[in-house]
Amino acid sequence: MACVSYPYAAPVSQTLFDRAAVVTPGGVNSPVRAFRAVGGTPRFMVSGDGPYLTDADGREYVDLVCSWGPMILGHSHPEVIAAVQAAVARGTSFGTPGEGEVELAEEIVARVGPVEQVRLVSSGTEATMSAIRLARGFTGRPKVIKFAGCYHGHVDALLAAAGSGVATFGLPDTPGVTGAQAGETLVLPYNDLEAVRAAFAAHPGEIACVITEAAPGNMGVVPPLPGFNAGLKQLCSDNGALYISDEVMTGFRVSRAGWFGLDGVVPDLMTFGKVMGGGFPAAAFGGRSDVMAQLAPAGPVYQAGTLSGNPVATAAGVAQLRLLDDAAYGRVDAASAQLRALATEALEKAGVAHRVQNAGSMFTVFFTDEDVTDYAKAKAQQAFRFTPFFHSMLSQGVYLPPSAFESWFVSTAHDERALERVAEALPGAARAAAEAAE
Ligand code: PLP
Repeated sequence: MACVSYPYAAPVSQTLFDRAAVVTPGGVNSPVRAFRAVGGTPRFMVSGDGPYLTDADGREYVDLVCSWGPMILGHSHPEVIAAVQAAVARGTSFGTPGEGEVELAEEIVARVGPVEQVRLVSSGTEATMSAIRLARGFTGRPKVIKFAGCYHGHVDALLAAAGSGVATFGLPDTPGVTGAQAGETLVLPYNDLEAVRAAFAAHPGEIACVITEAAPGNMGVVPPLPGFNAGLKQLCSDNGALYISDEVMTGFRVSRAGWFGLDGVVPDLMTFGKVMGGGFPAAAFGGRSDVMAQLAPAGPVYQAGTLSGNPVATAAGVAQLRLLDDAAYGRVDAASAQLRALATEALEKAGVAHRVQNAGSMFTVFFTDEDVTDYAKAKAQQAFRFTPFFHSMLSQGVYLPPSAFESWFVSTAHDERALERVAEALPGAARAAAEAAE
């Protein structure tokens, strides 16, 4: 890694990190949080308010991670907090059906046309894992197509050439996943319909489904080329396979109906998480009712969860979704557009090769002079420039994702004051990126 000086110490965070490292592998409960790609001390956050986070050393940051997507209304939104408090006061888990689950499912079905029925789970990983099982059960076929650089959670069969933390750490695959678990997964280059056509031709009658991020954010933001998702859907229909659109990241974030609301391509199954849980562990998969009818107890494909549809999580999710009207999405889109313009301007002035790519309000700054259309191109960026860029922003009170291969997120709470603070930080960070040496 390039020689980077960390502009200031974070002694309380460092002490917590040292304690954590004794009792938790790597000191964190999700790898990217450890700052390994950028070095330095991960900030232990103690509170969040609107667009701001405060760390254990008492420093405030403009948050451009938003908990990796969920906090689209900003932190501690009063109406979400009130809904959670009311739910907690009634009890935290019953292990029975409850009205909150029905409300959340109705909200999802009302927003996303292709979802006729939905099953609630607790994480995006569970959602994609269950959707794949259902696709295999429904079609009676074994194989799954996924794309390099797309991340669908840490499902064994889907960890081949995955994005997100797997991209950040440059892991080819992960030990612990056997050939049998990943052997039925075909990994193809993203945005390459010819490769998909060839895979269907090479494995007639064997492919259960194609799973893709609706618009990938886990190799950095790499939107589908025009016609790619529609082409996938067509190839799936022509070959009797299911088209699974993973909207865990894009769902309810880039529009009322997620990426489907922007491109209109109708999937057979969809997966959701993040925004729909309002900051709590709630996720879902859903789609065609004839496919969903195969799920237990209606059908033979087993799937279950002790905390699925948890009343506190569903109360938070329903409260958040009900506040997300067109005006809210307008505010998020405007904040994102403003930040993209500011980043572009700062990097241009500093003479740094870059591409600022977006999928709706999600965006990534790539350090490259080429459009990024797949994982190979994402990996070819000058990621060494990101490290000093990141630390410059952090030292000026802006919290970016600690990896060059992630999306940046904004919220309805990112107001002029917050955006101004980012605007003030960007020129210095762009200069630091320009001076970076490999
Ligand atoms: N699918 C996508 C597109 C994601 O971005 C993620 C997480 O970032 C997941 C699935 C897994 O979700 P979770 O982390 O809730 O298991």
